Formats: sequence, C-alpha cells, structure tokens
Amino acid sequence: MNEFPTQLFINGELKNSSTGKRLTLVDPATETVFTDVAAASVNDLNNAIAGAHQAFLKGWRDLPPGKRSEILFNVARRLRENCERLAQLECHNIGKPISDARDEVMLGARVFEFYAGAITKFYGQTIPVARGGFDFTLRQPMGVVAAIVPWNFPFPIACWKAAPALAAGNCVVLKPASQSPLTAILLGQLAHEAGLPAGVLQVLTGSGGEIGDALVQHPRVRKISFTGSTAVGARLMELAARDLKRVSSELGGKSPNIVFADADWQRAAAESPMSVFANTGQDCCARSRMFIERTIFDNFVELFIATTKKLKVGEPSKAETQIGPLVSASQRDVAEQFIHEAKAAGRKIAAGGNRPSPKGFYLEPTVLLEVEPHDRVWREEVFGPLVCLRPFDDEAAMIDEVNDSPYGLSGSIWTNNLRRALRVSRLVESGVLSINSHSSVHVEAPFGGYKQSGIGRDLGMNAMEGYTELKNVYVAE
Ligand code: NAP
Repeated sequence: MNEFPTQLFINGELKNSSTGKRLTLVDPATETVFTDVAAASVNDLNNAIAGAHQAFLKGWRDLPPGKRSEILFNVARRLRENCERLAQLECHNIGKPISDARDEVMLGARVFEFYAGAITKFYGQTIPVARGGFDFTLRQPMGVVAAIVPWNFPFPIACWKAAPALAAGNCVVLKPASQSPLTAILLGQLAHEAGLPAGVLQVLTGSGGEIGDALVQHPRVRKISFTGSTAVGARLMELAARDLKRVSSELGGKSPNIVFADADWQRAAAESPMSVFANTGQDCCARSRMFIERTIFDNFVELFIATTKKLKVGEPSKAETQIGPLVSASQRDVAEQFIHEAKAAGRKIAAGGNRPSPKGFYLEPTVLLEVEPHDRVWREEVFGPLVCLRPFDDEAAMIDEVNDSPYGLSGSIWTNNLRRALRVSRLVESGVLSINSHSSVHVEAPFGGYKQSGIGRDLGMNAMEGYTELKNVYVAE
C-alpha cells in the first residue's frame, strides 16, 4: 500500500500530538499491527478549535457562495481521483470489503458534490408581516462545528457531516473514531490540496474518552454533530445542554424488516440477508428483526438461509468478498455473547454461529429462529452478523411489536398492496423506511431516527439547515 498520513491535520499541516502519544491500529483480517496514529491532547484540541475559529472569522463564512461551491466541487474531484488510495486504507483499517470501501468513497464524493451544488440554491424567505414593511430570513453559519464519527462507515459519515457544515459556511473539527482514523486524515489533506483554506477542516485523531468532553464543552464549539452509540450520544447531549449548544445525533437502531405474504417474497428472501449482514452487521440500519407473515414463514426461512449460506465471507482485500471480519476482537465477543445466550435459552441457530477462520475477527452470518420478544437478541442492537426471524399473523399486533423498541432508525416493508404499504409506513415509528427495498441512505434525502435513534437529520437539505441559525430581519417602510 502507498504511504498515508498518520498525524493530526491542523491549520493545513500534518502535526504530531503535543504529547507524542500514538494509538496502535490492528488489521482485523490478520490480527497484526498495521500502523499507529497520533493521539490528540486537549492542548492540540484547543489549537485546532482556535485555528478553525480564525478561519471562520477570516473568510470562510464570508466567501461568496459561488467560490465556496467551486472549492467543494474541487474537493469531490480530488476524492474521486484518490478513490483507490482511500478505499485500500479503509479496507486494511477496519476490514471493510474492498468493493464496499470503493463504493463508500464514491458516496463521500457525491455528498460533497450535492452540497457544493446546494450552496447556490440555499435561500431564505420573504414574509408578508402584518405591520407592512419588508421581512426576510437569513440562514447563517454557526461557527465551529464538532463532527464526531464512528468506525463502521468512517469515510461517508465524515463526508456527510463535514460537507453540509462547510457548505453552510461553518468550519469543522472532525474527530474520527479511534479505530478508524486514517481516511479522515487523508480527507483533511486532500480537501486542503483541493483549495479548502487552512483551518476550515481540522482533523483530530485520538480517544473520545480523553478529548471528547473538552471538545463538546469548548466555548467556541457551537454545534456538535455526532454519530455513534446511544449511550455516548446521550452523554454528549447532557454536556452540551449546559451551554445550550446545538446537537444533532444519529444513534443506534434495531431496524425491522416486515414481509407480507402478498409481497414478491422470493425477492425479499434473496435480498434481505445483505440488509443485515452487509458490513458484517455493523450497521445502525441493519434489518436485524424480521417479521414474516406466518403463511409464507417456512418457505421464506428456507430461501433466506440458502441465500445466507452462499454469502462470500473472506479476506476484505478480495474483490469477491461480501462479508469481512468484525472491526475488533471485542466487537466479535459482543456478538458471540448474544449467540451463547440464545443457545442457552434454547433458541434455534439455523445458520452460522461459528468462527469460520482461526485468524482474523471473523464470525459467520448467523440466523436465529424461535426467539421470544423479551430476548435480549430481539430487543438490543448487536452490531454484528446476527438476525432473528419471527412469524406474525395480525398486521396491527405486528406493528405494535415493531414499535415496542426504544429505537426507530430504519426499516423495510415488503408488500405488493399499495394501500397496506402506505398504511404500515405511516404507523411504523422510524425516521427512514423503504418499501420493497432495503436501501436507507440517499444523499438527497433526510436520514436519521425517531426515539433513541437520534435527533436531527443528516443528508439532504435538512442537514444543511441544521448547520445554520435562522435569522429574521424586518425593514420598516
Ligand atoms: P461510540 O463508542 O459512541 O463512538 C462514536 C464516536 O464517539 C467515536 O468517534 C468515539 O471516539 C467518540 N466518543 C466516544 N466517547 C466519547 C466521549 N466521551 N466524548 C466524545 N466523543 C466520544 O460508538 P461506536 O462504537 O464507534 O459506533 C457504533 C455505534 O454507532 C452503534 O451504536 C451504531 O448504531 C451507531 N451508529 C449510528 C449511525 C446512525 O446514523 N444512526 C451510523 C453509524 C453508527 P473513540 O473511538 O475515540 O472512543
């Protein structure tokens, strides 16, 4: 693999941490040490925020929209040119299959293109107020935005937080997860090479536990945009609430996949395994709770399992691999604990359940049957390659069961009955739903959750609005 940066990216330069501290990264496919990376201190954090604040005041917020747009289009082009470099890094860093890693880099580039185009179409309103005169609104940037991202989709999530925030005129301090910092550093460097002024996008690698509180509580940070676990998200909101900082968060999920007997259920059975096993199940939108109408249940399960067994689990660097290792030994331990508990409770492991290889943090795609609604594996997010299938008889009772969850992020409904599709999609408590599909993410459309799956929305024009304050101006006649 080519050389890649492993330092902090502050004010347009790669820098070592002020303490010299570094974090070791392990390749999840081989369990060998792969590289190490600078771990930012609170001192580095303060420098990065000060630099971002200066970059905001000294020009980024006031740059003509057309110029900001041009720079972000250049960033997108630079990302496309470096697709292979970025994809290889992600593949080695977190064990992501190389074909998925390439798709995710392209998704990141498309996100920059979308917001580069959006800048010149982002309007306020004129409002006919009762007093007469002239009233209009302005969407204004906030200042310094802290973007904190997880390890499961490091590159696209970094892009879909940074791009709308930058497009709206903010400066961004990006904190990638400790396990997946490499593409974020390269993003900062490539964006700078593409014309993003120094300080506008700062990248701080290091431990959230060590610099997280200082980042969230820093007086110059005006908004926190977080993706990660519900527990950390809730804690960040508590800290941010002390200064009434703006927060948006995309958190955990336990997404339903509902298949009615009137659907093209053979297609649903063939496509649904990848709706939960893609990214080795480490996906907040993973359809890990399946509700199958009882009249088709046995046939559906048979086809679902046959398709699951054909999935290609293997080395992430191979083009044909669909399922790589989990990100770490501890993540695999968590998933295996769910399997042990299910076995101990007498649940049926209908496929998988074992480690397919002695090396690497692999776990077979695992299908559980005969689980009960109170089982932990049915209720809690696993973030591993596990799915539970249960039959249902009655639509209304099934919807109650779907909504009996603290989460509400994503989900699928399979039916060929249009009225049912519309009825059920209105009733399911979820920020994102797809009918006869398992897609969750569209660059152009809002993405985020109900209930404990988060607050606010990423992507689409909603995300850009979320990185602005709304000002109303009245002009007397
Ligand atoms: P996590 O532990 O919450 O970490 C997410 C990010 O928060 C990482 O950058 C982490 O840094 C940082 N962090 C941890 N403690 C912090 C603190 N005290 N202050 C500030 N930042 C802190 O979650 P994860 O295990 O990486 O990611 C998995 C979770 O993310 C799952 O629950 C999944 O559902 C969720 N997720 C949600 C979405 C969505 O859009 N809804 C998308 C992807 C993932 P360190 O790595 O340095 O600790």
